[in-house]
Amino acid sequence: MTDKELAELMFPDVKHDTEYYENLYPERNLKEGAVVSRFAPSPTGFVHMGSLLAAFIASKVPKETEGVFYLRIEDTDGKRTVENGVQGIIDDLKNFEIDIDEGVVSETEQIGAYGPYIQSERKEIYHTYAKYLVEQGLAYPCFCSQEEIDETRKMQELNKERIGIYGSYAKCRFLTNEERIEKIKKGEPYILRLKSPGDFNKKIVLNDLVRGKIEFPENDMDIVLIKSDGLPLYHFAHVIDDHLMRTTHILRGEEWISSTPVHLQLFQVLGFKAPKYAHLGVVMKIDEDGTKRKLSKRKDPEAAVSFYHEQGIPVEAVKLYLMTIANSNFEGWWDQNPTLGIDDFKFDFKKMSVSGSLFDLEKLKNISRSYISRLKANELYEKALVWAKEFDQEFASILEKYKDFSISVLNIEREQKKPRKDFESFSSIKKHIWYMYDEYFNGDLDYDFGKIHNREDIKEILNTYITKYFNENDDKEVWFNKIKELSNELGYCGDMKEYKLNPDAYKGSVADVSTVIRVAATTSSMTPDLYEILRLLGKERIEKRFESFM
Ligand code: GLU
Repeated sequence: MTDKELAELMFPDVKHDTEYYENLYPERNLKEGAVVSRFAPSPTGFVHMGSLLAAFIASKVPKETEGVFYLRIEDTDGKRTVENGVQGIIDDLKNFEIDIDEGVVSETEQIGAYGPYIQSERKEIYHTYAKYLVEQGLAYPCFCSQEEIDETRKMQELNKERIGIYGSYAKCRFLTNEERIEKIKKGEPYILRLKSPGDFNKKIVLNDLVRGKIEFPENDMDIVLIKSDGLPLYHFAHVIDDHLMRTTHILRGEEWISSTPVHLQLFQVLGFKAPKYAHLGVVMKIDEDGTKRKLSKRKDPEAAVSFYHEQGIPVEAVKLYLMTIANSNFEGWWDQNPTLGIDDFKFDFKKMSVSGSLFDLEKLKNISRSYISRLKANELYEKALVWAKEFDQEFASILEKYKDFSISVLNIEREQKKPRKDFESFSSIKKHIWYMYDEYFNGDLDYDFGKIHNREDIKEILNTYITKYFNENDDKEVWFNKIKELSNELGYCGDMKEYKLNPDAYKGSVADVSTVIRVAATTSSMTPDLYEILRLLGKERIEKRFESFM
């Protein structure tokens, strides 16, 4: 009996031949050098930082080359599938403004001419190519039970041999087609295996875009192509999908390097041209005791990209940070070109770290501080409001109620040579500016006046200041001179130099007096520019605050 008859028996439902799909998904009509790449997660419901890095680069390179970036969902492994797992991934990408040109855009919608982009909807395509391989004598049904496979493994372990189904261990490889057909007709369960043409003693070379040339022995394992449930394993699905979706570049985690010989062999037996591969290093973290380990979704909240969204760490800051870990020369470039953005930077695979990158949340927050410090006050206001609407509605309504005032508050020490850098995220804004709003400024507040703590002294300073000196219309110089005068009047030293020479001659200095005013107006001794704060609060509010304190 022929291979063709066997193939017919195994895949009675296949309606088309491979040619049909080759024509249905033709070579893409893109300009020379255009990169087609993809993000191909399992529907696990969320994107891990390491995957975000891969997705980010996989989307950046097509952008630079007028190519295509698409999202494919790899759901053939039921164990990695969770309910609403696709939506979580789409949301994470959306929140990170990683735009897709094609693929899965919602739980129910896909766009693009190369779909379906969900593997479980591509069964018919996989079966067509599987049937083709059987017809060519390049794949065969394997009837071994799990117990038999386990037995083989035990024996191999005992004999210190390579583990797997190859050579004489590939028992079903040696069945005749008559025997196969008989078993199938009897209803024996089976899976589909590749009849590997490889020779373990020969070498193949992978030209990895990040790592350069890597030599491997050829694959000689008769790997599983299709499981008993009819769905393909990753290896087979990846090769068919990336071929038919006309992917030019595969960016994926380094855990796949060791499978690449299998993939290259599959491309070869199917008669496809293999795409280029870039295997990205793992994203790691250093623990307090100095040990390096993989950033873990279980132990590290910062491993989930939703963390940044919730914290209100701007997308741009995360992207800037990802770029610094992706390409070592980015940071220097950005320092030299502070007005340019990631889109102006040319990504280079060769500048990726082979050994993986260290994830440093503090550094990311610093980048976030710098990024936020460069925003105009109204831009920051808008972004903070979007964040607050989702995560702190009370703060959002305050920001909206006092829009102009809030923009002015956010503008304190902004748009200057050395802008303030205390906002590390949108969620951290409130803790730095809450005292500007009466809604938050009530109840039991904590005051620490620093050096001057005698209540009568404090009252005297506040009273004299508000009744005699404060004027909303003063410019900064006049304002400061008045504080000095006030200090002198009440027995403090208005001149810091003089005070330092002769501290015992005074009750304190102008700095201590300012602290009293600052703390009474805001409760905090650490605020940005006091002049601006007082001016924005206005006389009436300051009076009220001083009174309520006294
Ligand atoms: N589904 C695979 C994973 O989640 C994708 C690997 C690839 O990008 O090819 O690891």
